[in-house]
Amino acid sequence: MTRDRVNQLQDDEAAITLENVSMNFGTFTALRPTDLKVKSGEFLTLLGPSGSGKSTLLNLIAGSLAPTTGRILLGGRDITFAPPRERGIGMVFQNYALMPHMSVFENVAYPLRIRREPKDVIGKKVHDALARVGLEGFDERKPKQMSGGQQQRVGIARCIVYSPSIIMMDEPLGALDKNLREQMQDEIKRLHTDLGTTFIYVTHDQEEALNMSDRICLMNVGGISQLGTPDELYFEPRNRFVAEFIGESN
Ligand code: ADP
Ligand code: MG
Repeated sequence: MTRDRVNQLQDDEAAITLENVSMNFGTFTALRPTDLKVKSGEFLTLLGPSGSGKSTLLNLIAGSLAPTTGRILLGGRDITFAPPRERGIGMVFQNYALMPHMSVFENVAYPLRIRREPKDVIGKKVHDALARVGLEGFDERKPKQMSGGQQQRVGIARCIVYSPSIIMMDEPLGALDKNLREQMQDEIKRLHTDLGTTFIYVTHDQEEALNMSDRICLMNVGGISQLGTPDELYFEPRNRFVAEFIGESN
């Protein structure tokens, strides 16, 4: 989907809607009451400094946290308190979260096994997913026999293997060196184009966000500072924080 097309999407095409969603841990507010619409098919990046609430927001959408206030809709369905597995939302983590004793094949097959898919379907879907991330022939490897970049490709294959309706990635390239990070940014963008799925991507790296996103949601101390296209945040920052954070170079 082109950037123009995404920006024309109407609110009724929202993939995810947050209404007045907040998160307190005891007396600490990690996310202030927040409204957000993620458009169907877009690549939305949550950008912000460490501690700004990016992972909290992702975990509320994934269902590993329940909000203190507000509700979350997936399409038109209220999923505020739905179990994570019923949401059909895929997640990729910074630390890969692979199971070390299991082969690449079994790691990627895991989401299909818990859904009790037939064996031949599992074999086909796992090999399709591994091919998409350039890991044909790696079935029998164990995670620790692979590089960081390869391990994250396994993490991505495990996420896409059951065709989730939303794909979320929490600082997936954070542990990788700069060259590999740039290569994998391109691969993830290509995956987004090929799949046409809604992506919600988290990073604290403003260059990564500017390169990859249809829209950027810039967060600061538990709230949204500005939501817009990379050009809007770069050329029309709403306040000094946005201007300084977007203008920063590594
Ligand atoms: P980010 O992902 O942007 O770095 P987080 O969403 O992880 O930020 O955290 C936002 C704030 O909430 C931080 O100050 C963090 O310490 C706090 N926080 C996150 N999870 C918990 C928790 N389970 N208990 C208490 N505080 C938390
Ligand atoms: Mg985080």
